[in-house]
Amino acid sequence: MATATTYLIALGSNRPSRHGGPAATLAAAFAALPGQVAARSPVLPSAPIGPSLRRYANAAALLDSELSPPAMLAALKAIERDFGRRRGRRWGARTLDLDIILWGGGRWRTRPLTIPHAAFRTRDFVLTPAVAIAPDWRDPVTGLTLRQLRTRLTARCSIPRSAHRW
Ligand code: ADP
Ligand code: MG
Repeated sequence: MATATTYLIALGSNRPSRHGGPAATLAAAFAALPGQVAARSPVLPSAPIGPSLRRYANAAALLDSELSPPAMLAALKAIERDFGRRRGRRWGARTLDLDIILWGGGRWRTRPLTIPHAAFRTRDFVLTPAVAIAPDWRDPVTGLTLRQLRTRLTARCSIPRSAHRW
């Protein structure tokens, strides 16, 4: 029998979905995650960027699941597609980004999936919610905890969140 492993999942949204704005979209996404949500961070909003009034929201979840990493990625992509669908259109712009940041099995590398997520150490919008639920989880690549990675990032530079792409 397969045993459950814990995944750290990052959630992001910058467009409304049928569930509402980005914060409501993330609230619905927590409920759709494939497994048992053991912890969820607050949903962190960011200011609208430029004249577009587009709001961003990010969050993180600890998810217990028996899925293998490739199966987890496939399940997350299916949820992204489901949330991105707009009534009356074929496929709307992507409204939800679900990334695997870490998992209980250490490193994983098969095309096209890399765990730990290749870019998460430089993304404050991933690290801040992640630290809220798993500050002591150690990145197997650098040996640093999430809290230490975030401290390192914010000490080094302070790129505004709006400068990041999702
Ligand atoms: P990002 O999330 O980095 O902003 P995308 O969501 O467009 O960018 O992801 C692009 C591709 O990265 C995904 O389709 C997926 O196949 C691949 N990928 C590689 N590693 C991961 C991971 N750890 N979590 C999620 N997707 C990943
Ligand atoms: Mg992604």
